[in-house]
Amino acid sequence: MSNQTLNLDDTLYRYVLAQSLREVPAQTALREKTRSHEFARMQISPEQGQFMALLVKLMGARRTIEIGVFTGYSALSVALALPEDGMVLACDINDAYTKIGQPFWEQAGVARKIDLRLAPALETLDACLAAGQAGQYDFAFIDADKPAYDGYYERCLALLRVGGLIAIDNTLWSGQVAAAATTPETAALQALNTKLHHDERIDLSLLPIGDGLTLARKR
Ligand code: SAM
Ligand code: CA
Repeated sequence: MSNQTLNLDDTLYRYVLAQSLREVPAQTALREKTRSHEFARMQISPEQGQFMALLVKLMGARRTIEIGVFTGYSALSVALALPEDGMVLACDINDAYTKIGQPFWEQAGVARKIDLRLAPALETLDACLAAGQAGQYDFAFIDADKPAYDGYYERCLALLRVGGLIAIDNTLWSGQVAAAATTPETAALQALNTKLHHDERIDLSLLPIGDGLTLARKR
């Protein structure tokens, strides 16, 4: 017994998946398709997708934001958890990545819920704010270029309603956040983690799931 989070070895990780993972066929197929991609490691893990889907359902979220789509597994997981009139405002700059995912969004019957915006995410978010959409979103997932995370966080906080939730990925950065920063990515994540710890605008939890997932609920 331990009061610390258990270290998952391969055997226990396989057990977690075998005993709890519930994917629709399109999710499994998209993971299979992405597996051979040179940047496959960028995809969130399936149990994290399932966890985010549960959060979205718990909140009754309808309007959501995703920053960093890649081949679309996280967008697919969230879209599947949304009601019929729900939507994911999905931001990425790389058409070659997102094209891989689109047939699987179609296969799952949720493509109409995913509004893909191919532009730098800061531009897309600023356009939403300029269009008067502050306070109109329920949930946001931040998973793109780390040095811009603080800019994404501030814009998402403005776009969310009170009680809305921001999930920020990779906040443990393979453990590198706990040592002196040697890259701009590590420094940016460290600065954001420190800022969030003392940010009175949110309720906070840093979960050691995947590569670290920070949950920030707008007060
Ligand atoms: N959430 C995805 C998943 O579960 O498969 C993984 C996202 S991957 C870690 C990061 C993505 O951010 C890449 O697809 C990349 O093209 C995108 N990206 C990088 N810089 C960006 C920017 N300035 N604006 C929007 N997307 C960006
Ligand atoms: Ca990530």
